Amino acid sequence: MTRETNSSTVRCYIGIGSNLANPLQQVKTAIVELQQLAGCQWRGVSSLYRSAPVGPAGQDDYINAVACLETDLSPESLLDALQQLENTHQRVRIQRWGARTLDLDILLIAQQHIDTARLIVPHPHIEQRNFVLVPLLELAGDISIGQQSLTQLLENCPVGSLEKL
Ligand code: ATP
Ligand code: MG
Ligand code: MG
Repeated sequence: MTRETNSSTVRCYIGIGSNLANPLQQVKTAIVELQQLAGCQWRGVSSLYRSAPVGPAGQDDYINAVACLETDLSPESLLDALQQLENTHQRVRIQRWGARTLDLDILLIAQQHIDTARLIVPHPHIEQRNFVLVPLLELAGDISIGQQSLTQLLENCPVGSLEKL
């Protein structure tokens, strides 16, 4: 069902990542699933990128992208929906920052600041992750996080191997 935008609709950005079980296909499938997410309207997706893993050693490279949605879901309901999608991709959590079939992180929800046991927005590691900042810049070149533009954040971000596909 297509839902109309209403006054409670907020724009959000979702970070997508995978480095297990055909990551490119995992990400492409996730994009289709995000396009169909109930309570959300699709606004677009960045290019796909390949990045070197930042977590525990010995993992394969990641495929990353950022998607933009408008939603009238509450932040917690959006997180529930994204975690459900991760589960349908058979995500298994064994090790923190370990290899995963699909990771869907809420990067930003409008200008909201959220800090609960389940959800921190803006996502706490955006500033250290060029695989998030670069695709986000493609979609939302004019936004700031805190007092800094994305371009400023990127200038100060650790250099990590990142290849546009
Ligand atoms: P990182 O958050 O550093 O990218 P991760 O994505 O591997 O690590 P997960 O295992 O996917 O971490 O999630 C761990 C928990 O993080 C989730 O259960 C969720 O409650 C919490 N969380 C807090 N803030 C967010 C957010 N902005 N987006 C998604 N999950 C979040
Ligand atoms: Mg993550
Ligand atoms: Mg996550």
